[in-house]
Amino acid sequence: MKILAIESSCDEFSISIIDDGKILTNIISSQIEQHVNFGGVVPELAARLHLENISWVIKAALDTTNTKVETIDYVAYTEKPGLIGSLIIGRLVAETIASYINKPLMPLHHIEGHIYGASIENEFIYPVLAMVVSGGHTQIEIVNSPNDFKVVGTTLDDAIGECYDKVARVIGLEYPGGPKLDKLAKEGNQTAFKFPISKNDESYDFSYSGLKTAVINLIHNLNQKNEEIPVADIAASFQYAATKIVETKLAKAIEEFKPKTLTVAGGVSANSEIRKIIIELGQKYGISNTFVPKMEYCTDNAAMIAKLAYEKLKISK
Ligand code: ATP
Ligand code: MG
Ligand code: FE
Repeated sequence: MKILAIESSCDEFSISIIDDGKILTNIISSQIEQHVNFGGVVPELAARLHLENISWVIKAALDTTNTKVETIDYVAYTEKPGLIGSLIIGRLVAETIASYINKPLMPLHHIEGHIYGASIENEFIYPVLAMVVSGGHTQIEIVNSPNDFKVVGTTLDDAIGECYDKVARVIGLEYPGGPKLDKLAKEGNQTAFKFPISKNDESYDFSYSGLKTAVINLIHNLNQKNEEIPVADIAASFQYAATKIVETKLAKAIEEFKPKTLTVAGGVSANSEIRKIIIELGQKYGISNTFVPKMEYCTDNAAMIAKLAYEKLKISK
């Protein structure tokens, strides 16, 4: 059974083909270079650039796998959430291919896709406790099947990835700043600054706007006093505050929900500290099925959508 999947919710246009659960290809066209001068993704530009990438990405996905489009059994795509213009383009491409080959369409959820990205190289044993950390989401989910996702906690304001990107920008790192900030943090002292750890309470919810504001205020004050900005120490102290709360909330969720699998998903799952926290929590609580996604499957990609489609079809038989 072959599924062709399309992911276009933000600034990546990606196509993957999966055959009986095996990823044959995962072509990702990224637009980072075109958005870098704006310091972030410009929605209108993202949609227009998708148009330029559609043909070569489809051709590359089919050619590199020697696939005839008629042999595809299902066409999956990211229906929501995301940038509306970007999503419409993915949907149009999916509808066009599906109607051309007369095969069913599968509209899927981007975040559920991120979670199944973690299952590409490892098998989920249910229930799964998934920490979703991405550009637009920060949530703890309990997954009982590919059709059963429960959000037990979420951010009340900014997402962790958004916070990383904003903080990176104020300390002078280029978009997307998250990975660069992660790298810089390794050179600094995490106890140099004491940033607020928000929503450190009984709930499973998160809040990142206070942390973001604290860093912006610090930079502002240092600038006013004409003092040098100790960027590495700020990065390290920020990374500590941003990730410590993830560890605290996850530990509590593990105790309550007793998952058989512990994993993490979304762009920020590429973060070195987050990856370390997940592995250590798995060891501490004796969850042998604990894993982090392969780097390629952390940020937006169509393989994760393909895998979600495959798992849904597998249990519908
Ligand atoms: P969503 O999935 O919520 O709709 P999105 O698709 O825009 O949002 P993703 O592609 O899942 O976001 O993730 C992108 C985010 O991941 C960016 O904010 C980026 O800075 C962040 N990111 C990637 N690598 C790292 C890292 N090593 N450390 C911190 N953040 C990172
Ligand atoms: Mg992106
Ligand atoms: Fe995403």
